[in-house]
Amino acid sequence: MSPDKTFRDPLKEQCAKRGNFRIRVIPVLADLVWVNTSDQKHCADIAKSIRRHVDHIESVDVQSDIVCKFCGYEWETDSSGEPQCCTAAAGVFASMVKPKTSDAPAT
Ligand SMILES: [Zn+2]
Repeated sequence: MSPDKTFRDPLKEQCAKRGNFRIRVIPVLADLVWVNTSDQKHCADIAKSIRRHVDHIESVDVQSDIVCKFCGYEWETDSSGEPQCCTAAAGVFASMVKPKTSDAPAT
């Protein structure tokens, strides 16, 4: 079998191959905003339509990523748990981990 030159790693080039091929469908949810339904429901409906109308499909499932509610970027934290995407999420983190001075016990 010829080496896959698309791999940049020489070991992968010699030992690995592309497999488990699958098709990913990314809907344009903005086109569906006029329907008062969640993005998750829109995706479930599209998956249902694919199952009904497309042959040779073993499975269709709806997957999602965890993203920041404020900026929409993929959810990523550092080793302390602090969000790395935006100041809004970092601010929520700071408010949750830093003790409030008003909560300090009276002496
Ligand atoms: Zn964010």
